[in-house]
Amino acid sequence: MPLVDSFLVDHTIMPAPSVRLAKVMKTPLGDEIEVWDLRIKKPNQGMMPEKGIHTFEHFFAGFMREHLNEKGVVEVIDISPMGCKTGFYMSLIGKADAGKVADAFRASMEDIYSLPEGTVVPASNPYQCGSCKLHSLEEAKDIAKEVLDKGIVITLSEDIALDPAKIKDLA
Ligand SMILES: [Zn+2]
Repeated sequence: MPLVDSFLVDHTIMPAPSVRLAKVMKTPLGDEIEVWDLRIKKPNQGMMPEKGIHTFEHFFAGFMREHLNEKGVVEVIDISPMGCKTGFYMSLIGKADAGKVADAFRASMEDIYSLPEGTVVPASNPYQCGSCKLHSLEEAKDIAKEVLDKGIVITLSEDIALDPAKIKDLA
């Protein structure tokens, strides 16, 4: 099985909250696709709660597009939670600037944190969501608040690369 890109970075030294360009791909027609690691919790030290991460995802997907999409330059394809519940992957068409990604991330946290109590979670119905009862606005706001309090840093993949010799010994 080929080694997945995220298995090449050392999660024990990964800062959070952080943004990191995880991967760049080229389509057969030459377009560039970037995959960004938007890390929220420090790996193996914390996790987003189940309902919170889900509600957060519903809002985050919209707010990030609002702040980052730029016609003809950058267009977000998808933002999805990581299985380890410590962050999100964002794929996009074009080339995004790390500072702009961090700014969009921060602005989205402000948007989520300032949502008034009782705000209806977008698409939280059985027609548009796969677990429409699994939601908590309060938990989503807690996640956003923590990111705002801690601040977002920019990480380079090469700065947290796993030693290739070590990869062989890991399970
Ligand atoms: Zn959903």
